Amino acid sequence: MEIGKMYINGKWVDSGLHKESINPADGSVAGLACEGSPKDVDAAVAAAAAAFPAWSALPVTERANFLFKIANRIEELAEDFALIDTFDNGKPLRDSLGDAYDSAACFRYYAGLIDKPSGGTYLVPDPNTQALTVREPIGVCGQIAPWNYPLMMAAWKIAPCVAAGNCTVFKPSSLTPLSSIKLFELFDELGLPPGVANLVLGSGQTVGRSIAEHPGIDKVVFTGGTDTGREIMRSAAETIKGVGLELGGKSPMIVFGDYDIDTAVDWALFAAFCNQGEVCSAGSRLILDEAIYDPFLEKLAARANAIKLAPGDEEGAEMGPLVSESHMNSVLAKIDAAKKEGAKLICGGDRVYDGKLKNGYFVAPTVFADCAPDMSIVQEEVFGPVLAVQKFKTEDEAVELANGTVFGLAGGVFSNDITRALRVVKKIRAGITWVNSYHPTFSQAPWGGYKQSGIGRELGVYGLEEYTEVKQININLVPGPVGWFK
Ligand code: NAD
Repeated sequence: MEIGKMYINGKWVDSGLHKESINPADGSVAGLACEGSPKDVDAAVAAAAAAFPAWSALPVTERANFLFKIANRIEELAEDFALIDTFDNGKPLRDSLGDAYDSAACFRYYAGLIDKPSGGTYLVPDPNTQALTVREPIGVCGQIAPWNYPLMMAAWKIAPCVAAGNCTVFKPSSLTPLSSIKLFELFDELGLPPGVANLVLGSGQTVGRSIAEHPGIDKVVFTGGTDTGREIMRSAAETIKGVGLELGGKSPMIVFGDYDIDTAVDWALFAAFCNQGEVCSAGSRLILDEAIYDPFLEKLAARANAIKLAPGDEEGAEMGPLVSESHMNSVLAKIDAAKKEGAKLICGGDRVYDGKLKNGYFVAPTVFADCAPDMSIVQEEVFGPVLAVQKFKTEDEAVELANGTVFGLAGGVFSNDITRALRVVKKIRAGITWVNSYHPTFSQAPWGGYKQSGIGRELGVYGLEEYTEVKQININLVPGPVGWFK
């Protein structure tokens, strides 16, 4: 089996230490990838720093051309990328194919954005001074990604970063490195200058920590769990580097009694169980009007039970396995805790071993009803196919329940009363919200959380600005001495 290498300063580097990447659908080996060390981070940072002056000075149209070419190539190879992520992560092919097209769209969006107006001019009290601002790249960025959308998370990070003129040291999750390796093969093939984008593989505790601590890195941008985010902030504090954090969530989907039950059930399933529930913005808490509570749950459980669990490459697969055995065990432990705390299990609740699923890490779509606000299943992110349902009587109560966790990533409101829907969605303390919808995400619109769900935004214009510094320039229009000291 070919070994997936690191890509540092435009060269493929074999660390000599290799780790198997496991296909969670059956425990087989999906690929082999290097495990790097802090020395590899040092080499990547040095390469990025050396590449930065020329890359940041390249005409924007030339930088854009690289990004357009990358977008086109990802699209051409979308099915290859999809298969890689399906075997490495477990997700169904329809999901991983969507991820590949989204990744291409992200590169294309930032290719198109970088020559658009930015900066501003300011009227200041001194009429002889013209103040203006320009945006400049930050320098060398460290970027650390999770395993749930392997290719897409790489695209969301690398596209705006290099578009803005920065150079990157990128680390994917050690559970799902394979599509990032393929992405860097494209960078190599398309002649991206050495050092602009560097790939270092390995664990969070070694390579990740070393990126967050590295004095040569100007900003660290991380997507992953909230506890890891805390560690990264601590590691970054020593060198006062900028941090961008996209963290966990426990996002609410509120359904009012005036909304069509079947339609809302359909969205609730999508909100909670798409991508096996391994979605930071998953609608993992359903906040349900008491007027429709019982019939809604009956339909929800019936439809959740009918979701087709299968290896992701199988025709018709609707939900794949969880990413790893240890993650599956953590999800099952959270299900057990909910049972012990008295949440009412209405479907799922176990690992699924049937037939050809027996060696995979499959967990049945699980719904707990009658959840109290202080239960762990309401407060803690599970990051799996587990939905906690809470009942409300009044609009105020719905809002209070929705905002009753430390997280603030996403949320949705379903109601035919559009003024109510807007009123309520404005009260949800979260960065990404939907009305009569859940999950659609676009490269054009900013993505990120309130509260303990993160700092900063990815995507959209904000996502590009996060990779720039703002410089103030004051121009004296009437040159002469200042005359402050006699
Ligand atoms: P994780 O926090 O375990 O790991 C994420 C990345 O950080 C991996 O590359 C890992 O190797 C690295 N890492 C781990 N410890 C580190 C350390 N001390 N220093 C530096 N790097 C370290 O997260 P995960 O299990 O890969 O992903 C799941 C989590 O990601 C969930 O909590 C989910 O909500 C979150 N997530 C958030 C978003 C978002 O946009 N807000 C998107 C996807 C996933």
